[in-house]
Amino acid sequence: MSSSDLLQASPSLEGASSAQILRWAARQFPARLTFATGFGVEGCLLIDFIFRLELRVDVFTLDTGLLFPETYELWRKLEQRYGIQIRAVRPALSVQAQEETYGPKLWETNPDRCCEIRKVAPLRSALAGFDAWISAIRRDQTSERARARVVEQDPRFGLIKINPLLSWTSADVWAYVRSQGVPYSPLHDRGFPSIGCAPCTTPVLPGEDPRAGRWRGRIKTECGLHTRSSVDKESLPLPSKE
Ligand code: SF4
Repeated sequence: MSSSDLLQASPSLEGASSAQILRWAARQFPARLTFATGFGVEGCLLIDFIFRLELRVDVFTLDTGLLFPETYELWRKLEQRYGIQIRAVRPALSVQAQEETYGPKLWETNPDRCCEIRKVAPLRSALAGFDAWISAIRRDQTSERARARVVEQDPRFGLIKINPLLSWTSADVWAYVRSQGVPYSPLHDRGFPSIGCAPCTTPVLPGEDPRAGRWRGRIKTECGLHTRSSVDKESLPLPSKE
């Protein structure tokens, strides 16, 4: 199926369940489908889906070297629970080498460059061997994400992007995770609805935007992984959204 045929499938998948979308994607891209998780609660949920549906999907994470200790612990916990290996994709520069090259705390002096070095460039090379990737974004997270489609061209990384959780709300996600006992970061219970690198993530106050704790005090809201470009501008019960 060509890229344009795949994109034409998106409207028909709009009302499909997440499980249907994931099964469809796994059929379309056998051994060429990957999932990059940052271990947010939505990512944990998708790992649970991939496991329950027995899908052949590669799973990896961007280990920036600046993640919270709780994130590394959750990574191990998910691997043990589901008997999978979540690959580590790391930047070319260690944190120390970055400091020697660009000066201390690049995340403060130039967070866009820091994200490019530690997230975007490693992601680009990690995705090079795949035809499609799954993301855990939801439409209600940001105005940018509100425009996402279930299947879309990702011109930034040159492959197809599958968004199976677009129609989920935060409450939907938590209801599923709690009812199924999916492991999740303890930071979520400490006021961190969105979790990234430790230096750039703070808790949010009641009533604040869920992503207000990311790059607090800056205009920046995305690390560049899910930014839309102007070009495109189960034995266990499955969830109710299934
Ligand atoms: S989130 Fe912060 S520390 Fe992590 S790569 Fe981006 S700027 Fe650097």
